[in-house]
Amino acid sequence: MKKHIKQMQVSLVIVCCLTLLESCAYKVSNKALEVKAIDQNVYMHTSFKKVDGFGWVDSNGLVVINNNQAIIVDTPWSEKDTEELLSWISTHGFTIKASVSTHYHDDRTAGIRLLNSKSIPTYTSELTNDILIRKNLPVSSQVFSGDRFLMLNDLIEIYYPGEGHTKDNLVVWLPENKLLFGGCLIRPVEWKSLGYIGDANISQWSESVKNVQNKYPVINKVVPGHGNIGNESLLSHTIDLVEKR
Ligand SMILES: [Zn+2]
Repeated sequence: MKKHIKQMQVSLVIVCCLTLLESCAYKVSNKALEVKAIDQNVYMHTSFKKVDGFGWVDSNGLVVINNNQAIIVDTPWSEKDTEELLSWISTHGFTIKASVSTHYHDDRTAGIRLLNSKSIPTYTSELTNDILIRKNLPVSSQVFSGDRFLMLNDLIEIYYPGEGHTKDNLVVWLPENKLLFGGCLIRPVEWKSLGYIGDANISQWSESVKNVQNKYPVINKVVPGHGNIGNESLLSHTIDLVEKR
């Protein structure tokens, strides 16, 4: 009898553990898209993906509004989250006008195919589009060239500072807000390394960040491609990470 009770207790513990594991697994496999206001007419969207060797990684992009028209700066990290973002935009009474992606990696471009299928203009630089074509990935419908491009009545300035995290990485400047979206050229203060550098140009990276510092000497907020929002110290932090390697 005693043995029987003990066996029951053991089974109960196992069942409880399994239930707990399942509910944890359920939670982590459903890291939902987050969208929050970070400045006047500027929202940050954050999506999550499990990356081999890094675990769950968050990825930031923006939604910039002018006269109820919305531009997505970098698509979320999956088509599902891009769909979520589109419904967020419409439930808030905004109309999606276009997207722009700041380099070719999928944390910036995973939603391009979906946006194209809905006839929403998708923008990348010529350089990014060439890489997407070469890699057989969905390409943007619109291409710009040169190192500066303006969108949304000049409220969005896209700037190519040179190679760094990738050869095509762009930053986005919102002059009204003095807000810099650094994309993956800029690393958050809580990162103690440069993260994925498989496509990076380490020897040019610092120089490119310095180009951003020279171009935008007064910055209120810096949104990195991953991690927490900060100020212009994220630029020198990134230079430190590059130079410490
Ligand atoms: Zn990247």
